[in-house]
Amino acid sequence: MKLNLNIQPLHTWIKTGKEPLVIAGPCSAETEDQLVATAHLLAQTGRISALRAGIWKPRTRPGEFEGIGSIGLEWLKRAKAETGLPTTVEVATGKHVEEALKAGVDILWVGARSTVNPFTVQEIADALKGVDIPVMVKNPVNPDLSLWIGALERINNAGITKLAAIHRGFSSYEKSAFRNEPMWDIAINLKTLAPELPLINDPSHISGNRDLIGYISQKALDLDMQGLMIESHIDPSVAWTDAKQQVTPAALADIIDHLALRKPEIRNAELNDKLAELRSQIDKIDDLVIQKIAERMQIAEKIGQYKKDNNITILQVNRWDEILQKRTNYAKALKLSPEFTEKLLELMHSESIRKQTEIMNKSEAGQAAEKLTHA
Ligand code: PEP
Ligand code: MN
Repeated sequence: MKLNLNIQPLHTWIKTGKEPLVIAGPCSAETEDQLVATAHLLAQTGRISALRAGIWKPRTRPGEFEGIGSIGLEWLKRAKAETGLPTTVEVATGKHVEEALKAGVDILWVGARSTVNPFTVQEIADALKGVDIPVMVKNPVNPDLSLWIGALERINNAGITKLAAIHRGFSSYEKSAFRNEPMWDIAINLKTLAPELPLINDPSHISGNRDLIGYISQKALDLDMQGLMIESHIDPSVAWTDAKQQVTPAALADIIDHLALRKPEIRNAELNDKLAELRSQIDKIDDLVIQKIAERMQIAEKIGQYKKDNNITILQVNRWDEILQKRTNYAKALKLSPEFTEKLLELMHSESIRKQTEIMNKSEAGQAAEKLTHA
């Protein structure tokens, strides 16, 4: 089933220019100088289609910097006048919409913490009735595709047809390398349901760490997303918000220069969707395989401790023969070659042994100290 959205293509409302489309700017506007100077450096890269800056910041705890507020709109005006870059800000209330429109902001975006709340989204949608302005809707904080779709529908129903979705990843209780889990399949599902809806990736909020931005950006382009929103600050080390994930305009240009763009010949939407879907299946399975191997190692460590406590040797040849025999038979039935299975098992087994040897050789004092540091 497809979604019933009324959408105008991206190029009708933003200069796509050099591919990929990049929207960049600081997480937060902090001072007039910081914003205007960052904007100039970004414009000089020649790779940026719009300048972003948060002026009303949704912070997790009170007392943190909650954005510079309406004065930032004046700074954005100046940045635009001096660089020619269209501007975009996050709006979270009807009043924000009114003020941003009055100040001539070119594009609005709805943040992840607003998309989760239908009351908030409806208030924003109501303020947008009768207005012709592009709006980008970030995915909700929680991994719920319906909420994301609901927000897009509310804005679209208000008459906004210059609409895009921003994939910024999802909050998860599990610790991982990412600040927000990409959960690519949710973005792919949205793309499948609304192929005409432009999808922009936000590698900054997915990574939470500037070193991963290139990797996430490449992956987004490989999934045929239409653009990137990347946080850039003239001096990230002193940024008032999201310092770890911001990059200088020069570093941003370098990241973009190193992205591989697919050749137009293979820009066949259907083919890409199929490939993307198959790849996302592979990604999911690989994640599971790694997770299961990690769980296996944890159990091997427990066995190591048990063997140590009971003075049993690490290697018991019979047990290893039995594992090898049983698993290769099982794998063969599943059409995996015995050579491959044996290699894989040997690799896992030698790592288990290495871990168990570590445990055996650790002194009681060392173990106690380690327990303490992990407590
Ligand atoms: C932001 O873009 O700075 C922001 C607050 O993002 P998100 O809504 O994705 O958390
Ligand atoms: Mn941010």
